[in-house]
Amino acid sequence: MSVQYDLVIIGAGQAAAQCAIKAREKGFQGSIVVIGEEAYLPYQRPPLSKKYLSGEITQENLLIYPETLYQTKNIEFRLQQSVTAIRPDNKTVHTSQGDTIRYMHLVIATGSRPNRLPESVLPKLDNVFEFRGIEDCHQIQDHLKENKTLVILGGGYIGLELAAVAQKRGLKVIVLERAERILQRVASEPTSRYIREIHQQHGVQILENSCVAEFHYQENQLTAITLESGDRLELDLMVVGIGVTANYEIAEACGINIQNRAIWVNELCETNIANIYAIGDCACFNLDDQFTRLESVQNANEQADVVASKINALEAKYKPVPWFWSDQYNLKLQISGLGRDYNQVYSRINAEKGSASFWYFADDTLKAVDAINDPRAFMMSKKFLGKEVNNPSVLADVNVDLKAILV
Ligand code: NAP
Repeated sequence: MSVQYDLVIIGAGQAAAQCAIKAREKGFQGSIVVIGEEAYLPYQRPPLSKKYLSGEITQENLLIYPETLYQTKNIEFRLQQSVTAIRPDNKTVHTSQGDTIRYMHLVIATGSRPNRLPESVLPKLDNVFEFRGIEDCHQIQDHLKENKTLVILGGGYIGLELAAVAQKRGLKVIVLERAERILQRVASEPTSRYIREIHQQHGVQILENSCVAEFHYQENQLTAITLESGDRLELDLMVVGIGVTANYEIAEACGINIQNRAIWVNELCETNIANIYAIGDCACFNLDDQFTRLESVQNANEQADVVASKINALEAKYKPVPWFWSDQYNLKLQISGLGRDYNQVYSRINAEKGSASFWYFADDTLKAVDAINDPRAFMMSKKFLGKEVNNPSVLADVNVDLKAILV
């Protein structure tokens, strides 16, 4: 079958949903189709490893927009199918159903996929899971039973959020991180230390600098692992949360520029090929002279907004001020800026209030802040990113009000 749409969006996640809706809100009159591999309308992923896994919210609550809104706005979906090829020369995409779809504007919002260990090291087993989508979440939920031992491979946000939920459910939880410390990719050493202590206080065992030397399995069940240290851990289930890789391959195959295994875009989210854009986890762009790929809802939404403006001939430019969040136990972590290129971190810990913030500086210039149970520090820090702060070491003194320091 051969059909034509004015706006074709590949992928049906956060960035895709936002792009379709925003395009309409900004006046786009043409036809829109969103093509997605999963069986679901676009849903929020952040709650999967938090409130959805713990059963506090329903599947319906996960939807980014209700189905009726897409119907009202005349946005079509082709779910459970994927785009197998893009042909920029005749402005078409080919789908797994054998259809050819002609586009006027094409938006690639293919997201990212979980990293996996090679099958030769860890084959597919019935009690080993990855964590990316609703289906993964449902499978893991069935296994979260009291007194079971859960080993989590990877001490990033996925691993730590999952650890907090599983510990609350009464499982024995062990987090294995191969780097020197948990959250090494995304946070400073003082932040890692603070969060490690919280997990340890809840009884979660955190093993850093730890790699698996051998996986032991029988009848499709992982039963134990031996670490490189020689220690052997018996277990009931394992979740692998060892980072993600952008889905860039269909873009690369049609000649779109790739940088650092992601789709390179300019500040209008345009690729190097006319009328083709990329947004969300799959896209990388130049931020402070570095190729940057942001895995966040904020990035997906803001890039979607830029493309929605562009195709409506409205002015827009993507200039992100990154922010992220994570919930673990009663800890709300809010992060502003990017924790890179810093040479000093000031810790502002208020043990009495159970709050803390960690301020990253390059000399006297504020680069990022991790605020834990401290929304005020988060809000104020956002305004000061990229600015010089006089005598920033005073931040370590919680008796000095932030207003007196950030002037
Ligand atoms: P991540 O932040 O990249 O963390 C994965 C961790 O696993 C890294 O510390 C990595 O260490 C470690 N690792 C890699 N291979 C390992 C191995 N073989 N054994 C033990 N540890 C290993 O990614 P993630 O936690 O899997 O999260 C996936 C995605 O979801 C990311 O995009 C993340 O930002 C997003 N997410 C975000 C939130 C949030 O913002 N609240 C929550 C959940 C998920 P190395 O650095 O040494 O590779």
